[in-house]
Amino acid sequence: MNTVVDTALIQALDREHFLHPFTDFKDLATRGARVITKAENIYVWDSEGHKILDAMSGLWCVNVGYGREELASAAYRQMMLLSYYNSFFQTTNVPAVQLAAKLAALAPEVGGRSFRHVFYSSSGSESNDSNVRMVRRYWDLLGQPQRKVIISRNNAYHGSTMAGASLGGMSGMHAQGDLPIPNITHIEQPYFYELGQPGESSAEFGLRAARWLEEKIIETGPDKVAAFIAEPVQGAGGVIIAPDSYWPEIQRIVDKYGILLISDEVICAFGRLGYWFAYEKFGYRPDLVTFAKGVTSGYIPLGGVMVGDRVATVLIEQGGEFNHGYTYSGHPVACAVALANLELMEKENLPGRVRDDIGPYLARRFTELGEHPLVGLAETCGFMAGLVLVRNKATQEAFKPELGVGMLCRSHCFRLGLIMRAVGDRMIIAPPLVMTHDQIDEMIALIRRCLDATLADLQ
Ligand code: PLP
Repeated sequence: MNTVVDTALIQALDREHFLHPFTDFKDLATRGARVITKAENIYVWDSEGHKILDAMSGLWCVNVGYGREELASAAYRQMMLLSYYNSFFQTTNVPAVQLAAKLAALAPEVGGRSFRHVFYSSSGSESNDSNVRMVRRYWDLLGQPQRKVIISRNNAYHGSTMAGASLGGMSGMHAQGDLPIPNITHIEQPYFYELGQPGESSAEFGLRAARWLEEKIIETGPDKVAAFIAEPVQGAGGVIIAPDSYWPEIQRIVDKYGILLISDEVICAFGRLGYWFAYEKFGYRPDLVTFAKGVTSGYIPLGGVMVGDRVATVLIEQGGEFNHGYTYSGHPVACAVALANLELMEKENLPGRVRDDIGPYLARRFTELGEHPLVGLAETCGFMAGLVLVRNKATQEAFKPELGVGMLCRSHCFRLGLIMRAVGDRMIIAPPLVMTHDQIDEMIALIRRCLDATLADLQ
């Protein structure tokens, strides 16, 4: 395939016509966008021929790595057989059914709760909108329509639609468009590094952070609370990993008040944390599980909700018609690609590799970066990781936000051939799950060079 591109021409057309997501349009126009033209395994190339190690798997999604023939041919075969049909009006299609059965088989039963049903969308954001619709419908059908409030967490990310951005706890998003919408409220995130108190252990902090949920339920009125939504590990918020004591206490609280638990696993499912679904790792029992991204390794858009028996039974037995759905719910090509993706992940045992092999290896190599003079903390969970850039390692003093040290580090990463993401001064990664030990070493060496270059700039 010809990948030679006239960079200046593409940048000019980009500037003229393309409004990018989460982008300062004017600022991008002055710099010109980086044009990515091809990708293979864990690397992407830009139009100038630079090879870049993609430690973010695109946007946390390319779990099986780039350029997998199996996924491309599954799409081709399905497009030639049945390129599209909808699942409205009592129709279905073979890949959508097979994928639903496959996902139900992969989702482990916990505490007598199983997942036998799937509701499809095309993205994580849409899936969380579907969650809001399903949660409200569930409580309406049970004769408790006053249960409307969904509790989420500050700095969470649950998507960019009106409901998704409202469920999320990003202040920058709430500041635009009068968000959150009514009946969504937030508690503080379980971020020990920032919110732990002097002398408090991480286990004590985990309990205290979970109890913010109980306080919020009581403040709101227990009979008004419908659900609690959370990411197993907060991804876009900066790879925020809750202490081990957090989830059991959250489970105790949601059980005590009978509210639904939504596990937003758009990033964390499909091997990212070493399991098909992340709730298995932490041992909690969600009623609804949001998925997207890794289900197709990002090769084609697909998302959905695993609907646990508690909710599914009420929607099915008492619900009548559910007035909600999308043109692309159960898209046959997307579902065929997802099936090929999951088959490949099974064949290559990617969740098991993360759990027993490359996850522990990444943990060892990444935490070594904690010795770097710029790094105040370096931690991993499965195959995602974050480190904090600090001004003073001994006192953990942070840089002034206006210095933009994270963004400075990120630009060194690009220059040196590495994609890392900056969330404030937290530098984060979530690499493809096919990485070898040698590639992990290569990535760590690159990160070190980027940290050195950032440090040199600051001196
Ligand atoms: N939920 C979580 C946890 C996410 O990380 C994301 C995207 O990063 C979303 C929802 C939204 O997914 P999408 O961008 O596919 O709408």
